[in-house]
Amino acid sequence: MERLFLSFILVTFSLFGCQPTTENTTAAELQVSEAAQNLKNPYYSRTDTTKLNLPDATWRKVLSADVYRIARGKATERAYTGKFWDHHGVGTYYCAACGNALFKSDTKYDSQCGWPSFYQELRATSVAYEQDNSLGMVRIEVLCGRCDAHLGHIFDDGPPPTGKRFCMNSAVLDFEPDVNPAFR
Ligand code: FE
Repeated sequence: MERLFLSFILVTFSLFGCQPTTENTTAAELQVSEAAQNLKNPYYSRTDTTKLNLPDATWRKVLSADVYRIARGKATERAYTGKFWDHHGVGTYYCAACGNALFKSDTKYDSQCGWPSFYQELRATSVAYEQDNSLGMVRIEVLCGRCDAHLGHIFDDGPPPTGKRFCMNSAVLDFEPDVNPAFR
């Protein structure tokens, strides 16, 4: 009887509890990942491009300490410490504060500077620019085009075709890999 029961459990598991394919797992994980972001931060959206103009107190509430420190406090993570400086996945990078699409992986390159670097933004409106005179330097700050989060700086030593280097902080980027459309 016991053996019969065990067989039933095994058959049931193999029929209904089998492991999904890698592609299905990835798609499901992406949905869970964005849902988790939305639970904590109701302003996070990868589809809504409406400009956000929220008070600092709101950002402090909805962002993690790491994201807030850079996005709103304009801090810089230490070189070679972020999760994306040596990341080679194929997909899209989003603003970690609001979900705005910022860069495609095919414009990411190895700049050897220790921060994720791109030579072109995804859309003209993905980012905004502001002169930054801090630390005794004149630099151009790169901000999220939707929420004004500080992302990093842009320099003129990038590769063709733009010659630009978007030098970004990993902590303010989210990455979503491209998924086979058959599994969406
Ligand atoms: Fe943003």
